[in-house]
Amino acid sequence: MRELGIIEDGSVLIAGGKVVAVGTTDEIARNKVAKKADEIDCRGMVVLPGFVDSHTHPVFTAPRLVDFEKRMAGATYEEIAEAGGGIRASLRGVRDSSREKLAEHVRSALEEMAAQGTTTVECKSGYGLSFAGEMKSLEAIREAARHWAGTVVPTLLGAHVVAPEYRDNPDEYVRMICEDMIPTAAKLKLAAFVDVFCERGAFTMQQSRRILRSAVEHNLGVRAHVCQLTPEKLAPLAEFHPASLDHMDFVSDEDISALAKLDTVATLLPAANYFLGLATFPPAHKLIDSGVAVALATDYNPGTAPTPSMPFVLSAACTHMKMSPAEAVVAATYNGACALRLQGRKGSLEPGKDADIAIFDASDYRELAYWFGVNRCSGTLLSGTPHSSTARPAEFSR
Ligand SMILES: [Zn+2]
Repeated sequence: MRELGIIEDGSVLIAGGKVVAVGTTDEIARNKVAKKADEIDCRGMVVLPGFVDSHTHPVFTAPRLVDFEKRMAGATYEEIAEAGGGIRASLRGVRDSSREKLAEHVRSALEEMAAQGTTTVECKSGYGLSFAGEMKSLEAIREAARHWAGTVVPTLLGAHVVAPEYRDNPDEYVRMICEDMIPTAAKLKLAAFVDVFCERGAFTMQQSRRILRSAVEHNLGVRAHVCQLTPEKLAPLAEFHPASLDHMDFVSDEDISALAKLDTVATLLPAANYFLGLATFPPAHKLIDSGVAVALATDYNPGTAPTPSMPFVLSAACTHMKMSPAEAVVAATYNGACALRLQGRKGSLEPGKDADIAIFDASDYRELAYWFGVNRCSGTLLSGTPHSSTARPAEFSR
């Protein structure tokens, strides 16, 4: 996690949306393909593989400003949820919106993410909480992905919380997820993963296992929100080979040792801790020192992490979890790709991989985690297609 493979005065040669060669500028200049290539001058800048934001909830319509004020007045996440705020507050907006309107919101979020260096985004449904609402959310993700040059990985999160209609019979809601939502999402190829919020006030371990078992039966990948608010044993989830277990604030030492032996990534979301004003953060160092692959993601959502910014997450990871800038960069790129099982295509600049590249107005990669509240991303390439941002543009000479 500390090995970046930095090349001073480096160049990347790309063609057909793929990386063809990586090396020093002198080496690349000798390549036959380079002689005919257009040049993007990045002198004095940092060039990285684009960030892989492996955990976001972009299908919503409005910020949750009442919840925000209530929290500032002292209410907890759970108190706000019980008063009808939280996830359920976003439900009405999603159920009442057209697919087109939801897709438009997702697309504008993807644009903001790309402007900060993100080139691959996992997008969850989870504010519809009905068969129609969840399918519409996944269709909105697909629609938005069609109009964005980056890569989108869709996830069904029907199991975000129990829908209000099923408050007295949560097992019936779980049955509907397993027998209606998951088979349909799989059949229509609307989701690559199924996620579940395994937590007090959301879904029990037994219910979570039912949902993940159904996902595996339908050949969908598996991931889970776990140990965010309360401790939970991970072995009953690990059985389903999750690509990632996310949040992990309350993971036990015993489970950290067990996790180190698996290919499951621990995805940490420090922007949520920051926004909730929490004093504690996930135990990044215990995880890293034990050999667990740690990824970082924004958790972009209207309730606990309204930020599209991976550079902000890098900053929070360094200042609040004591990750080194190098560890944060790896966690936000290669390990994020592993959390989506895309490490063969994404997360590093190597021949044959997608030409997903982020360019920063900085002379040292450590500046990415050092400056905060400012966007130093000058541009991104999404499978070779330039996406310019509002920050000082790199010279795109064509
Ligand atoms: Zn989340």
